[in-house]
Amino acid sequence: AVVVGRRVRRRRKWGKVLGVLREVEEGCETSVGRLKQVVDAMAVEMHAGLASEGGSKLRMLLTFVDNLPSGSEKGTYYALHLGGTYFRMLRVKPEGQRSLALARDVERQLIPQHLMTSTTEDLFDFIASSLKEFVEREENGSAFPLDRRRELGFTFSYPVKQTSVSSGILIKWTKGFAIEDMVGKDVVDCLQQALTRKGLSMRVSALVDFPSLVNDTVGTLALGHYHDADTVAAVIIGTGTNACYVERMDAIIKCQGILTSSGGMVVNMEWGNFWSSHLPRTSYDIDLDANSPNPNEQGFEKMISGMYLGDIVRRVLLRMSQESDILGPVSPKLLTPFILRTPLVASMHEDDSPDLAKVAKILGDTLEIPDVPLKVRKLVVNVCDVVTRRAARLAAAGIVGILKKIGRDGSGGITSGRSRSDVRIKRTAVAIEGGLYTNYAMFREYLNEAMVEILGEDAAEQVILEVMEDGSGIGASLLAASHASHGPDAAQ
Ligand code: BGC
Ligand code: MG
Repeated sequence: AVVVGRRVRRRRKWGKVLGVLREVEEGCETSVGRLKQVVDAMAVEMHAGLASEGGSKLRMLLTFVDNLPSGSEKGTYYALHLGGTYFRMLRVKPEGQRSLALARDVERQLIPQHLMTSTTEDLFDFIASSLKEFVEREENGSAFPLDRRRELGFTFSYPVKQTSVSSGILIKWTKGFAIEDMVGKDVVDCLQQALTRKGLSMRVSALVDFPSLVNDTVGTLALGHYHDADTVAAVIIGTGTNACYVERMDAIIKCQGILTSSGGMVVNMEWGNFWSSHLPRTSYDIDLDANSPNPNEQGFEKMISGMYLGDIVRRVLLRMSQESDILGPVSPKLLTPFILRTPLVASMHEDDSPDLAKVAKILGDTLEIPDVPLKVRKLVVNVCDVVTRRAARLAAAGIVGILKKIGRDGSGGITSGRSRSDVRIKRTAVAIEGGLYTNYAMFREYLNEAMVEILGEDAAEQVILEVMEDGSGIGASLLAASHASHGPDAAQ
């Protein structure tokens, strides 16, 4: 009788766990119907964000970038890229013809954790010293003659309200950054002051021109356009997520009176902050948001990007562990926020060994849950799958939302009454960057699959997603190159 009783109890516990899984699956539901609602909501919010300042959670920020690289850029340019996880320095030498292998040197380093929550001075002193050393190495320690000024592109992957191509104030921090004294400050001033503080003004400032300041999406769009003139938008799916695209000036209603030579301007959507009641939100998302440093902000980002996916999975596993003993006694590691990083989720999800040995190893090493039976390993993979699939499909809906707004989704735009079959979609390229998309094959597959489901085979065939490795930085240097030739006020 005792044995039978135990069996029954175990089965009940599995029942509870499967109940949790079913609930998560339902909560993360992304049928094509729902994705199309997200597409529409995205397009509608884009209109609202362009109509007036504060008109939408989508900020739709002006970038003052009106001309994208054409492929004819020539010279030697530098770029700095402050991302969510890495700081990169680049030196790029375009040679005047659109070249596939653009000559470049890239140095990448992890941003020291303490700098993300320190002071503006600490962060920019680090950036300025790194830049000095990099430039000296690249120029072989030579003294920098004034006639060898180099243009510098500064890719800053946070929301900035720009007033020109080379100035703008930080609106807020996202991802892991929280340096309060910097909010509201001009990002380029911060850099210039650090260069002066470090005594580099004679050397580096003489060497580099006024930096052009770009969001990482804009850098990626620039490199995309350099390679392929049909590129109209760019998306980052990494630690954070965001998109930008080329908009007609007359559609940017909130900004009257600015004329650009191209009649258009790149708009930084800041789509990480997008919100819609159509988004499939679970109790895990609500808890994650409530415990984040920026509650009620970056709602779309928190369902999609690399900073958060691992933590959603952790929260589901924690719940399963609390509801049953299939993961043993609740491991304290499961209670530790952000301990399960998204690259580990990817490794577990993509573990193709028959006994899911990688899953067992990660559960053991990172979460300190030892000796997990195969059945439970499979369950963990299932959780990774549900969370990642939702993220990838929502990102796809976001991309189609942009295409819809600019009339390139094959439906004829949201104000047109033409039927789908009347409209042929133009070949359209979207540049993509970010570790989540480039390093996580299952994420990529789910995103591509959803694009086809939403757009239909014919339209999807005309939409090309092109990975731009280091696009954020390289593109910024190419923009610096084109600003150098057009003059800093070309946008006005
Ligand atoms: C930031 C964006 C950035 C994106 C991708 C978001 O958290 O708000 O400015 O483009 O991350 O790095
Ligand atoms: Mg980044």
